[in-house]
Amino acid sequence: RRSGDEYVLVVREVPTPQAVLLAADRIQQAVRDPFNLQHGNELLITTSVGIAVFPDHATDAGALLRNADVALARSKQRGQGLVTVFDSKMLDAARDRLELEKDLRDALGSGGLSLHYQPKYWIRGKKRLVGCEALLRWTHPTKGSISPARFIPVAEESGLIVPIGAWVLSEACRQRKRWADTKVDVGRVSVNVSALQFARTDFAGSVTRAMRPSGIDPSWLEIELTESAVMSDVDRAAERLESLRKLGVKVSVDDFGTGYSSLAYLTRLPVDVLKIDRSFVRDLDAADERGREAKALAGGIAYLGHALGLEVIAEGVETEGQLSSLRALDCDAIQGYLYGKPLAP
Ligand code: C2E
Ligand code: MG
Ligand code: MG
Repeated sequence: RRSGDEYVLVVREVPTPQAVLLAADRIQQAVRDPFNLQHGNELLITTSVGIAVFPDHATDAGALLRNADVALARSKQRGQGLVTVFDSKMLDAARDRLELEKDLRDALGSGGLSLHYQPKYWIRGKKRLVGCEALLRWTHPTKGSISPARFIPVAEESGLIVPIGAWVLSEACRQRKRWADTKVDVGRVSVNVSALQFARTDFAGSVTRAMRPSGIDPSWLEIELTESAVMSDVDRAAERLESLRKLGVKVSVDDFGTGYSSLAYLTRLPVDVLKIDRSFVRDLDAADERGREAKALAGGIAYLGHALGLEVIAEGVETEGQLSSLRALDCDAIQGYLYGKPLAP
């Protein structure tokens, strides 16, 4: 046993590399059997495996272990219960990732992160600004601007998303206060919160702490969560969302329609807004079957949202055609390049 839940297995005199895979498979099979706990509870454990072979992948114990570790990390990244054999290309990828993580940590400490804000408009009646979404931006000292699609996953895997998320929350509150002080009415500011951050024991507490210094009205703040963040443990999520509601903070379900929401659960979760995912909006303009399907989906989400008393907003709206479809489908609000890109405060 190497540490915590990590074990090392030395398989000697392997006739063929396939034999190692066979050993990994047997371990996985053995662990896969459920453990029966008291009161009829079952515990299921999956095993992730990383393999490095002597002398192909390294010729000393230290390097072999390190390379098996790299392969293991890749297994965990790809999902649960997977087996990965080391490949030297992984080393470059792992090095890049490690460097990115280190630079991101530095950026958080040295003011290298900033927020841009994308306007949201109410489209019932006269077009009206009702809020904006805070979106994280990172300008790397030598590599220039790095996309959230690239660094958010690194932040999540390293746990850095927790301090970064805390910074985003307080910075968005500070900015909302500055706008209020200068009589600029931007409506609610929404902040994306990752599943990891939301799952922390005292999430509502961290939101309160973020709001306190700026003293903003809690109803000016909205939290955007993805379906997977709220659906993985519905009971816990419902409690957490209830605490946010008590604070007076609004909650929206981001990228709605892409995850695996159980519609029945939706009725039990105290949320305020459904955000129709960009992928449906994109296809609204299509003249073929895709367009018809996208309309059915977006219209269905709007209908469902309204039936549950929620607000419905569409994201990624780029064309007048998409806008008029969304109006026809009874959508309340939109966000997208058509009306405004994410901008500095
Ligand atoms: P998201 O929350 O779904 O944000 C919407 C993304 O769509 C943003 O990308 C935005 O710039 C982009 N977008 C807006 N309008 C349009 C449009 O009309 N067309 C197209 N093609 N794209 C549009 P961005 O800023 O690159 O952020 C990507 C994702 O990164 C966000 O998706 C969110 O999941 C995550 N993210 C951003 N900031 C934060 C943050 O502070 N914390 C966390 N946890 N995640 C964040
Ligand atoms: Mg969002
Ligand atoms: Mg989204």
